[in-house]
Amino acid sequence: MIPLQNSLPYDIQMNEVFAAHCPFCGQEHVPLPLKPEDVRDLRDGRRKQAIVFPCCRTRVQFIDADGDYLLADQRLSPRR
Ligand SMILES: [Zn+2]
Repeated sequence: MIPLQNSLPYDIQMNEVFAAHCPFCGQEHVPLPLKPEDVRDLRDGRRKQAIVFPCCRTRVQFIDADGDYLLADQRLSPRR
């Protein structure tokens, strides 16, 4: 089970991976520096993937994925 507070909804369009929104700064439809193959590797548990959100430069390590969500090793919520 993926803990919801660690998960990020994503979408693949035109061979690019988008986050529905950035959990840290709130920007919508953020293109992630991930390829669909990277998401597949995450889903297969083949490897982990650290990325930096382009909108606010927040670094996140993804450790798993399913068909709708990327799972991070940290809670994804706005920094206060
Ligand atoms: Zn952001």
